[in-house]
Amino acid sequence: MDFRSHMGLALEEARAAAARGEVPVGAVVVGPDGAVLARAGNRTREMRDPTAHAEMLAIRAACGIFGERLTGCDLYVTLEPCAMCAAAIAAARIGRLYYGAGDPKSGGVAQGARVFAHPQCHHVPEVYDGIAGEAAAALLRGFFAARRQG
Ligand SMILES: [Zn+2]
Repeated sequence: MDFRSHMGLALEEARAAAARGEVPVGAVVVGPDGAVLARAGNRTREMRDPTAHAEMLAIRAACGIFGERLTGCDLYVTLEPCAMCAAAIAAARIGRLYYGAGDPKSGGVAQGARVFAHPQCHHVPEVYDGIAGEAAAALLRGFFAARRQG
């Protein structure tokens, strides 16, 4: 099967999040057949919920369709997942994780907690980083620059 990136859709969700005044992060869950199961952007402010990260919302929605385990599914997210989301990705048995920009502040995959490298991590997805990373990073920079001026 040809590889088709869904990062463009994740970036759309990130832009929609920014338009709602949320930190611009977007995520998409794709099923084993390549169909989009769920897409979401950050909603922590709107939902008053610090766990309402794009990945968490997309995983919850996809599990509503697919079941508790997303075996064989892929997750695209514009920013390196934090430790909470990385743990959720492992628990959901996501097959492949594609992310855009690295996150030195809160990332938990390539830095920080490095959740997937931990011996207690029972499922490790294949990880591909830097997918449209510059576009994702530019969105975040623009958002925080505008917020500092506002
Ligand atoms: Zn997170």
